[in-house]
Amino acid sequence: MTDKLTVSILGTGIMGAAMVRNIVRAGHTVRAWNRTRDKAEPLAADGAQVVGTPAEAVQGAHVILTMLHDGNAVMEVMRKAGPALRPGVVWIQSTTVGIETVDAAAGFSAELGLIFYDAPVLGTRQPAEAGQLTVLAAGPERERAVVTPVFDAIGARTVWTGEDGAAGTSTRLKLVANSWVLAVTAAGGEVLALAHALDVDPQRFFDLIDGGPLDMEYLRVKSAAILDDKLTPASFAVATAEKDARLVVRAGEMNGARLDIAAATAERLRRAAAQGRGSNDLAASYFASFAEGLNSSAVGDGASLLDPQ
Ligand code: NAP
Repeated sequence: MTDKLTVSILGTGIMGAAMVRNIVRAGHTVRAWNRTRDKAEPLAADGAQVVGTPAEAVQGAHVILTMLHDGNAVMEVMRKAGPALRPGVVWIQSTTVGIETVDAAAGFSAELGLIFYDAPVLGTRQPAEAGQLTVLAAGPERERAVVTPVFDAIGARTVWTGEDGAAGTSTRLKLVANSWVLAVTAAGGEVLALAHALDVDPQRFFDLIDGGPLDMEYLRVKSAAILDDKLTPASFAVATAEKDARLVVRAGEMNGARLDIAAATAERLRRAAAQGRGSNDLAASYFASFAEGLNSSAVGDGASLLDPQ
């Protein structure tokens, strides 16, 4: 094995496109495929080979990395790549999926002789673009020399959770972490919604918690996105966050934990999507607190944004 790899990236959305650029920058050959090819085309200017089918993308690859919307997309795309998959190829599965998809992906890998790594990531658009993600990785020790250059290209840190990708230890940790991200964002949106409803200047709330144990950088960032009307382009879209909230709820249900906050968050995200905000940043769950039909075209500054009609 040379130290320069051929890496196939399936899915060039917010996260996948950033990964492509960073893996190219690290000197590897990248073959990129996206369902909507137009969205992948700009990556050719960064040095990636943009191809038309999943099967073309995986041909000759040492490593395949999936960064798609959900588990169904992952399995569908990998089945399409099937005829071109060779035994011994490493599959890094980084899409946020449920525990059942990890089982399906590990089973598929076993059938085809792929070496499976369960490797979701923490971090959003900006850390992805900067190659500063945290990779949560589980997979065999034996192939770590192959996956490490890829993880180093996309992330600042790799947290190993186990040596058996099929056990889903990384996905389990990822779902736990996302339950926190989703809860904080939804609660932050409700804080601003209540402040609006009670005619309280949100700045008074931020001054109140400033620097204390209730203060939090992430709350500040997501609140600013709402107040300053910076909900596009999304770092983490409402529709994707709803998918993750439902994964969290299901993982709890399947394992004996009822998760009311995650369920309520999923509903808030669903309502925001129904208001036409599915591709907004997940901070837009704020709008779920108000009647449908908020006039976003009237939004210009923080004051008007906080003024649901
Ligand atoms: P995104 O921008 O919406 O990209 C989703 C990708 O999946 C696109 O390439 C899309 O293709 C593709 N896709 C969707 N359905 C498909 C299908 N049925 N068949 C084939 N391709 C399909 O999402 P993202 O933010 O990059 O997130 C990707 C994954 O990473 C998600 O699982 C998400 O939960 C996870 N994640 C996201 C973040 C974040 O902050 N954004 C952080 C960590 C993990 P098209 O372009 O054709 O629609």
